[in-house]
Amino acid sequence: MSGMAAERQLPTLAELTWDQAAGRACVWCKHLLDQGAVSAGVIRERDGAHVLDTEVWAGPCCTGGT
Ligand SMILES: [Zn+2]
Repeated sequence: MSGMAAERQLPTLAELTWDQAAGRACVWCKHLLDQGAVSAGVIRERDGAHVLDTEVWAGPCCTGGT
């Protein structure tokens, strides 16, 4: 429970892969998530009237888990 993941700068939506945007892959390293994923935060963007807020996830690969 270091909280490090939440303190990292999130990428922009344009930088995400489809899997990352869908919450299926780690936001930091693109590793496909299996279990132990934690929310890395919400990328807040909007395109005109459309709110594109996207929650992204990180796996043990990047949250200090082994
Ligand atoms: Zn990762």
